[in-house]
Amino acid sequence: MIYDTFSRGGGRVPRHRFHGRERSLRDLPRLNPAIKYTASYYDASMHEPERLALDVLYDGITAGAASDDGGTSTARAANYVSVIGLAENSQSEGPVSKEKSSVLLRDEVSGEEFSLSARLIINTSGPWTDLTNAALGRATNYMGGTKGSHIVLDNPELLAATAEREIFFEHSDGRVVLIYPLKGRVLVGTTDINADPSEQPVCTDDEVDYFFDLIGHVFPSISVDRSQIVYTFSGIRPLPRHDDTVPGFVSRDYRIEHGDVGGIPLLSLVGGKWTTFRALAEHLGDTALQIIRVQRISHTRNTAIGGGAGFPKEKSARKIWISRNANGHSRELVELMLKRYGTRASELLAQLPSTPQELSGAPGHFREELEHVARNEDVVHLDDMILRRTSLAFTGGLTHEALSEIAAAIAPAFGWSAAAQKREVHRTAQILREVHRVELNVPGIAPTQTTDGAHHVNA
Ligand SMILES: Cc1cc2nc3c(=O)[nH]c(=O)nc-3n(C[C@H](O)[C@H](O)[C@H](O)COP(=O)(O)OP(=O)(O)OC[C@H]3O[C@@H](n4cnc5c(N)ncnc54)[C@H](O)[C@@H]3O)c2cc1C
Repeated sequence: MIYDTFSRGGGRVPRHRFHGRERSLRDLPRLNPAIKYTASYYDASMHEPERLALDVLYDGITAGAASDDGGTSTARAANYVSVIGLAENSQSEGPVSKEKSSVLLRDEVSGEEFSLSARLIINTSGPWTDLTNAALGRATNYMGGTKGSHIVLDNPELLAATAEREIFFEHSDGRVVLIYPLKGRVLVGTTDINADPSEQPVCTDDEVDYFFDLIGHVFPSISVDRSQIVYTFSGIRPLPRHDDTVPGFVSRDYRIEHGDVGGIPLLSLVGGKWTTFRALAEHLGDTALQIIRVQRISHTRNTAIGGGAGFPKEKSARKIWISRNANGHSRELVELMLKRYGTRASELLAQLPSTPQELSGAPGHFREELEHVARNEDVVHLDDMILRRTSLAFTGGLTHEALSEIAAAIAPAFGWSAAAQKREVHRTAQILREVHRVELNVPGIAPTQTTDGAHHVNA
């Protein structure tokens, strides 16, 4: 009922429905025959949060770009740059004054350190918020992040069993978990385990067992094994400190904490979700504007983000968009680019040669496409491309040869020599193995390289 209230989009989305055992098994015949009933409801799904984050970022930069009449640009973003402290103030006498304090930053690529002065610092470093505050010299104890892992299975039988629906259910330990068909694979998740944000989270063997157990609970006649795992990923939720509360029951709401460092006001964001990010950003923006005494001059409440702006929703509008932006390309290619980049694909299509070179190690991806992404989407390393700009790692099957081919495709954007390409391939292979348990050219899950010491918390 609550989902109906919030997600029906003014009636464009159907209402929820409950079905008894017979109808449930007719719709999903591989479900556990002991099922009593199912409920179907409709909700939005976000398939590429990394790409949405980029689109939001580029909209912000565009909004803050220098005006045509020669004003200065007011928005900038810097990738691979960390806050490492508060800059020493050599000129100050006594307490550090407002004007003279600045934040010390490190370019993680070149190692260069530099300082930046600010009227306000907003710490939105997610589960690392306390660590960033500590680096700034302010001890806080706001966060209590929990680790959540997922596995991605290449199992056509399980994929078919989901009938293109997310299967969302309570497992025997009381946690709500999911089996979700996505990009021709099946995503299974997730766990909720107290975690230390200073350690790299990795999906453990215990978590894999937990996932296999829950699949067996819902689809008992479908066998799954580790050789079908093509990818794993883990993240730490930016939850508030929750002491004795069981992770699954910690509020997913957010709050904004006020403080200061070296005389500069400091806002720390605690919590938050993708679901609420627009409201949260507006709230944080308003709070920041109040502190720096600046009037809001525009809002984005009804703004379509990035490639969603002017997106052709209806069939006829789609047809028009495709013919206007085809630039001599096949309908299939234009459709694929529109699906992947939204209306931002028009820029790419204008630049792609008439017969772009499809990469043999990354079917459906083109040499010139990835080079365009490398030049325009703040890519620094090959792993940015594999993990955060495309779904190439997620869908699995990457090989050393494919990584070398992709590195060669994007090398012109960075002037990478053959040796630099080799280093990038090596770095990416290592991240895939150690963080995502993917061993190139070998099917199935790689052995764990690190132990995070986490224990499963059962409700
Ligand atoms: C397993 C899991 C499942 C989830 N499921 C959902 C879901 O179904 N629906 C939903 O809405 N949300 C979900 N979330 C939550 C959602 O992903 C997060 O709320 C969201 O990503 C938080 O965004 P953020 O920008 O605040 O923080 P993050 O995305 O964590 O970004 C913080 C950034 O700060 C950077 N950083 C850290 N330290 C420093 C420093 N010293 N200097 C500079 N930068 C620094 C980090 O590198 C990082 O890029 C899930 C999260 C997890 C982990």
